[in-house]
Amino acid sequence: MINWKESHMRILLTNDDGIFAEGLWTLAGELKSVAQVTVVAPDREQSAVGTAVTLWQPLRLREVNPMVPEVETYVVEGTPSDSVILALDGLLKGKVDLVISGINHGLNLGDDVYISGTVAAALQGYLHGIPSLAISTARGNSHLAIGAKLAALIAQKIAQSSLDNLLLNINLPNLPLDKIGGIQLTRLATKSHINSVEEGFDGKRKYYWLVRQGDNEPSEIETDIWAIKQGNISITPLSSTLSHSSPPPLLDDLCSNLLQELKRG
Ligand code: MN
Repeated sequence: MINWKESHMRILLTNDDGIFAEGLWTLAGELKSVAQVTVVAPDREQSAVGTAVTLWQPLRLREVNPMVPEVETYVVEGTPSDSVILALDGLLKGKVDLVISGINHGLNLGDDVYISGTVAAALQGYLHGIPSLAISTARGNSHLAIGAKLAALIAQKIAQSSLDNLLLNINLPNLPLDKIGGIQLTRLATKSHINSVEEGFDGKRKYYWLVRQGDNEPSEIETDIWAIKQGNISITPLSSTLSHSSPPPLLDDLCSNLLQELKRG
């Protein structure tokens, strides 16, 4: 394994489960043998905050004792995206080679990526022009070390390659290494969850729970959900482009006279 002092690689590590999460420190423990690691992470659980950025109140940050020795560690009273922006645009002097977010306690598959704080933190790294990884696994998975080893391997490969900007969403099945069938390059499944609303009464007022349940429909092949169901590790390359490359013709028709109609009142 390459010593980080020789590799000169610098990794920013963050998450959305907060500074005490086991997944974060399993990663830190493994990555510190291949890179100089700085942890900048939210001070509390921030799962499902998505890409939220704090613009209307000041952010606070403090250096704390790491749970893994020799890893410079800061906690942020803010979101995962806040943590990455603070780190890259303010706190860290010099070049950061890789941003890693995770290991999230909970898979981030299909449409999860739009609300995941884990993926959003990696997205911030990518938007800064830095290769970035989001790593997630099933809640309660006791094989976190596999994800950490995989991250360290990918970090070394990125350091040795000319791959510049990339964003990878990595998910691991809840399996020991000898039961994992393979590593598959996948695309996002279109649907991963069914949302429902549960209503209750607290004695004074109505309240609502938004409930998000896994969708048990058969998944299309070569998607991330399909790979995980097969017992494989899924690696999905993401991009920040949400827009269609060319608008569908029907939409052209729909929009063609809108301004004239608007002016006509
Ligand atoms: Mn989380």
